[in-house]
Amino acid sequence: MKALVLKEYRRFAVEDFATPVLQPDEVLVRVRACGICGSDVHGMDGSSGRRIPPIIMGHEAAGEISEVGGGVKNWKAGDRVTFDSTVYCGECWFCQRGKINLCDHRRVLGVSCGDYRRHGAFAEFVAVPQRILYRLPDNLSFEQAAMVEAVSVAVHAVKRTPLADETVALVVGTGMIGLLVVQALRAAGCQHVIAIDLEENKLSLAKKLGATHAIKADDAALSEKIRALSGGRGADAAFEVVGLPATVKTTIESVRKGGSITLVGNLKPQVDLPLQAVVTRELTLIGTCASAGEYPECLKLIASGKINVTEFISATPPLAEGAQWFERLYAGEKGLIKVLLKP
Ligand SMILES: [Zn+2]
Ligand SMILES: [Zn+2]
Repeated sequence: MKALVLKEYRRFAVEDFATPVLQPDEVLVRVRACGICGSDVHGMDGSSGRRIPPIIMGHEAAGEISEVGGGVKNWKAGDRVTFDSTVYCGECWFCQRGKINLCDHRRVLGVSCGDYRRHGAFAEFVAVPQRILYRLPDNLSFEQAAMVEAVSVAVHAVKRTPLADETVALVVGTGMIGLLVVQALRAAGCQHVIAIDLEENKLSLAKKLGATHAIKADDAALSEKIRALSGGRGADAAFEVVGLPATVKTTIESVRKGGSITLVGNLKPQVDLPLQAVVTRELTLIGTCASAGEYPECLKLIASGKINVTEFISATPPLAEGAQWFERLYAGEKGLIKVLLKP
């Protein structure tokens, strides 16, 4: 098969690669679309230590089954599928309780670190265990389906957060995941969603995608404006979707007493915590990571149009052009959000 192989840091080659040999519980998926993730872009220069060459990256994919292993019963060639980016073990304490994102033995497709190497989906074919497969609704394109991992991160974050009818929600940081959180909140019935970002164009996109209010992060009257929109008390539930000291601070300062802060972003490994504010205002801090079983619901949300993902798809080039698109993303080219490679 043809595969886009990271040969050494920042050097790719599209080359012939052995088609994976199936284990009894695996299926072979003919990949039709696979998204380039920020973690791939950061990984390709060696800085994350999680893309040690040689590796076929790619964990946000969709395609159709071309072959099934001997022990596979409920899937057949031709089925249109997507799959979890994480291969969970299905047997550990966490998996047994449905917390598959916290699996003790989780392996991410397209990752090679000190512990393992698992080739991913920037290739014509990828082998995945049947337990991580999800069937695509008929009206969903492979491109839309390849966006489901990002959607699931947002939907899981919203699910982790206590919401009530009158909840005024705040989303700090409206990059792609933040914009998906905005949409997931609206899909969950939240009537008041305030978006905060430094960039005007992201805020207008937030409004287009369902935010009821948008405020620039450097607005001198930011906290007054948030309070004015929340009965004078502050936001009930806030989502931090950046992960920097300044945005964590803004988020904590913007919630009411007894409110919750859902921490999604994690650009920095460590930030200062205003301990006394959290304690004396009885704030709830909620961490959220990846997703745990939300894929079917997310596929329906995309198929029904309740969550718009096409807005984020910047380009769908063939696999052969992968290297140059990686470089453009690495350079931080303006206006590029999600690039989906089509093997
Ligand atoms: Zn990803
Ligand atoms: Zn497990």
